[in-house]
Amino acid sequence: MNNIIPIETSNQIDSLNLNINQPLIISDADEVIFLFLKGFEKFLKSKKLYLDLAKARLTGNIKKISDNEPVPDDTMTKLLPEFFLKETKKLEPVINAQNCLKNLSKKSQIIVLTNIPYKDRKSRVEALKRNNMNYPVITNSGLKGPVVSKICEKMRAPVFFIDDLGQNLESVKKEYKKAICIHFLQDERLEKLMMTPSNIKHRLTNWLEVENLINQEILFYENKK
Ligand SMILES: [Mg+2]
Repeated sequence: MNNIIPIETSNQIDSLNLNINQPLIISDADEVIFLFLKGFEKFLKSKKLYLDLAKARLTGNIKKISDNEPVPDDTMTKLLPEFFLKETKKLEPVINAQNCLKNLSKKSQIIVLTNIPYKDRKSRVEALKRNNMNYPVITNSGLKGPVVSKICEKMRAPVFFIDDLGQNLESVKKEYKKAICIHFLQDERLEKLMMTPSNIKHRLTNWLEVENLINQEILFYENKK
């Protein structure tokens, strides 16, 4: 993976208007703000398929309901674009995401950084609006570290990064060391499967805990000033 930021992503970053002295929360969407896995499983069911979560991998584990036979490895790459196109608008929010983000927005700036195709950005924006989470959305592809580092180039206040994927957390920690990274695992099954990278301190399973942690860190920052 290289450090080149897709042009669409970099244009979206340019259109942000950040206050470098106010805390910033950069949150993933799928599995953090929206119930991605539940939505994806519903979508698979409509195709008479299911995701076998017995092993710690999401790709290559799609099986037929009829005979439990796995479908070819490239099925995931074919199904995901169709899923994002048809289902992004309909995904249900994660419990407490809306009210906790609303509380946090009193002191912090919030950005949603999501790895979905740029052409599906509008659906994501609409779904967030419909669920009263009208925050700036940046779409990306690839690891999120270079993007977070670009967004935060001039930031002086604390930056929080929330994601369910260890690779993104590691990438952000590498490219923007100051980030306070939170590994967020709200689905009990994924929580059992996913390891947290050793350099990531926080592993949380609900938004109330996230709100608490961020408030504590902001308080600490304000007292230091
Ligand atoms: Mg995610």
